[in-house]
Amino acid sequence: MLDAGDEVRPISGGTALLILIKQGLLRPRTLVNLKKLEGVNSITWDPTAGVRIEAMATIHEVETSPVVREHLPVLAQACHQVANIRIRHLATIGGNLAHGDHQSDPPGVLVALDAVVELTGARGTRTLKLEDFLVGTYETALEPGEMVTAVTAPRVQGRLVGSYLKFTTGSSEERPCAGITALVRLHGNLPVEARLAVGAVGPRPLLLCRADPSEAALEEMAGRAADDVDPIPDLRGSAEYKRHLVRVLGRRALAAVWKEACP
Ligand SMILES: Cc1cc2nc3c(=O)[nH]c(=O)nc-3n(C[C@H](O)[C@H](O)[C@H](O)COP(=O)(O)OP(=O)(O)OC[C@H]3O[C@@H](n4cnc5c(N)ncnc54)[C@H](O)[C@@H]3O)c2cc1C
Repeated sequence: MLDAGDEVRPISGGTALLILIKQGLLRPRTLVNLKKLEGVNSITWDPTAGVRIEAMATIHEVETSPVVREHLPVLAQACHQVANIRIRHLATIGGNLAHGDHQSDPPGVLVALDAVVELTGARGTRTLKLEDFLVGTYETALEPGEMVTAVTAPRVQGRLVGSYLKFTTGSSEERPCAGITALVRLHGNLPVEARLAVGAVGPRPLLLCRADPSEAALEEMAGRAADDVDPIPDLRGSAEYKRHLVRVLGRRALAAVWKEACP
């Protein structure tokens, strides 16, 4: 039934879909209410697989989950900054990823965490790196009839120190103009990897990784992110403005995690 194109749409929190319907941009004949399904919002930790979040977990459930707070505090930090408390109670992580809006907070963080999405359709279940799932603005690798059923952030070797910086040009409840995730991975006390993910600026998150982090290397990473990002100019800022933001916020986020990782 779900493979009937725009005629039939799944609805989760409805926070994005109902706006599109009210604006007349979509006119589905049938909505399939996924909120009626039970037991599809769990958030679990497995020492081998990592943290698995089922699609119907709300952004608020992700933000407040003891599992996420313990193993992926940077994701809790980012989800806490999504919209406002009313939206966070309705919107789901599956709906957020499936919607494919580049101006979102969770996708960039999850890409930095190497997350994998689970997609289920009539032909079964497949998994895909989130980085490959997010194709562009409002474009994902979902095939007709497929649903996002879970997202998993795999376990990492060592310990992660992370920070998420959201920048809006209006109130703090607005969608991000830029969302920057910085991560440093430690083996014991030794930093072995740095990651910088730039979300909400280009059509899909940009991820940069460095295997030999040092203070100087991190500075260079922020510059490279600003050069490599493909900013979409809009009412929130010109391409030049957004590139500048990436340089400044990238540097700031990396410096903060470096200070925490190597005091
Ligand atoms: C006022 C406002 C402010 C916002 N601010 C932010 C912000 O600051 N940061 C941020 O990240 N986001 C923000 N958002 C976006 C919000 O996070 C998304 O609307 C939400 O995550 C979408 O989730 P949902 O469950 O409501 O999806 P829905 O609206 O139910 O669905 C969205 C789309 O995904 C499809 N869909 C839903 N669930 C699935 C599934 N499991 N599998 C396949 N397809 C599915 C639907 O058919 C629809 O096309 C804001 C939204 C509003 C209205």
